[in-house]
Amino acid sequence: MAVSTFMSDDPNVVTHRTPTSHWCAACWSWVVDCIHLVQPLRIPHGLTPGDFFIRSLAYDAAGERLEIRFRWKSAAQFRPITAAMFRQITAQTNVYPVLNKWIKERSITWSEVRTERKIVASMLCGFRLVVERLGI
Ligand SMILES: [Zn+2]
Repeated sequence: MAVSTFMSDDPNVVTHRTPTSHWCAACWSWVVDCIHLVQPLRIPHGLTPGDFFIRSLAYDAAGERLEIRFRWKSAAQFRPITAAMFRQITAQTNVYPVLNKWIKERSITWSEVRTERKIVASMLCGFRLVVERLGI
C-alpha cells in the first residue's frame, strides 16, 4: 500500500477520512470492512455513563471477551479478559485508562467489531459502485 493512498481524494479509496473506517494492522490499510472484523456479541450492553470514552460494554465470560462500544461509534472486542479483570473494569468510572494499561502490560489483543454502521457504510459503498458501473 503506497503512502500516497493515505491522502487520496479518490472516493473509492478508503482513507482515515472515510466514514466508519479504521486502521487494520493485519491488512496494513484503512478499511471499512475486512476479514479481520469480528461479529458483535449477542449479549446486552451495560451503559457506562461516567466514562469519557466508552458508551457501553458487554462481557462474554465463556469466551473471555469484553466488547466495548466507544463514544466515537466504533466498537472493539478485547481478549482474554478474565472474570476477575471484568470485575475490576466494572468497578471503575474510567474504564479506558485501565484497559490501556492492560494492553501495554499484558498480552491482550483486540479486534474491531463489524458494527451496523460499518455494514451500512460498506453496503452504500457497494451500491455506489454498482450505480457508477451501470452509468445511472
Ligand atoms: Zn483487515
